Amino acid sequence: MQFKEIIGQEPVKKHLIDTVKEKRISHAQLFLGPEGSGNLPLAIAYAQYIFCTNKDEYDACGTCPSCKKVQAFSHPDLHFSYPIHLQKSTRTSDDVFADWKKQLETSIYFSVQDWYKTLGNDNKQGTIGTEESQRIVKKIALKSYEGGYKILIMWLPEMMNLQASNKLLKIIEEPPKDTLFLLVSENQEKIIPTILSRTQLVKVPRLKEAILTDYLIREKGLPKNEAETFAHLSEGNVALAFSLMENKEQASFNLDNFIKWMRLCYMRNVGETIDWVDSMASAGRETQKNFLVFTLGMFRQSIVGHYTNSELVVLTEAQQQFLEKFAPFINHKNILPLTEVINDAYYHLERNANPKILLLDVSLKIFAYLKRKV
Ligand SMILES: [Zn+2]
Repeated sequence: MQFKEIIGQEPVKKHLIDTVKEKRISHAQLFLGPEGSGNLPLAIAYAQYIFCTNKDEYDACGTCPSCKKVQAFSHPDLHFSYPIHLQKSTRTSDDVFADWKKQLETSIYFSVQDWYKTLGNDNKQGTIGTEESQRIVKKIALKSYEGGYKILIMWLPEMMNLQASNKLLKIIEEPPKDTLFLLVSENQEKIIPTILSRTQLVKVPRLKEAILTDYLIREKGLPKNEAETFAHLSEGNVALAFSLMENKEQASFNLDNFIKWMRLCYMRNVGETIDWVDSMASAGRETQKNFLVFTLGMFRQSIVGHYTNSELVVLTEAQQQFLEKFAPFINHKNILPLTEVINDAYYHLERNANPKILLLDVSLKIFAYLKRKV
């Protein structure tokens, strides 16, 4: 990861580069910044800059063997540590390294929630446990493979339990030669004070909305007003801005499909329903599950009698008209069976039911339920 890939934060980049130029790299540093500020990518870019054998004044070269290894997340002297869901088969960061790599390759900006989702359960808190700190102590004790620094990047040290913190503290206090600890934190208050006092602080401020807006226009091709909305809603949190952008795409997909589906069900058009089911079946399972949740929400809103315009999707006049005409078809007689049929479908989809058979079956049930207008 090169510095140029990171949005803004020029003063932080300059500070980091200066420490290398002036040979005053502190052996334990705490990159402290809010979610989506770029604190993690900055730590990785810093490591790459240190390892790079052909760096210039502003950045790593991106093409030397060291850079290539860092970019592939396979540099033998660069170690990562991060919160994981402790289980029998996953005891340390190494056990889920493939997921970590996937996360970083998807986007260098992500929230801890995004990470838990990648791990397969975004409702479960992660931990950096005692086995993990033992693993770190062992790795750090080894000689460096390439003869230079050994660098450990720990993301969210605030997720360490006390025992793990104490183990880490010991090696931070008496580090083996040429070892760097880059701790990347979002919450200073949760880090134990003894660790805080032994690390040098690198403050990474929240991004200014204007800088994020410019980036979204230039790199993501968003129109100015949309870029401004996302930068503003996310308050400069890049991870959140990216996830809002994704949600927006999903929301318009859901709305389009909901309207199409309900229209077909209402008309009992079997032929076109089968076409619709085929196209929905070809979307991924997550997309289908998300669509079903959206459908439940729309049924509920029909009962309440109004559709909330989310901040991200503004209903067109045609969509608004359809929904108003459609609302009376959802009523106290059919809301329960409709809710049940969607909930059931969700349940079976999660357990790998065939989406084609499942969605067609659901459609046929909705055909019948929709006729019960009061
Ligand atoms: Zn290089």
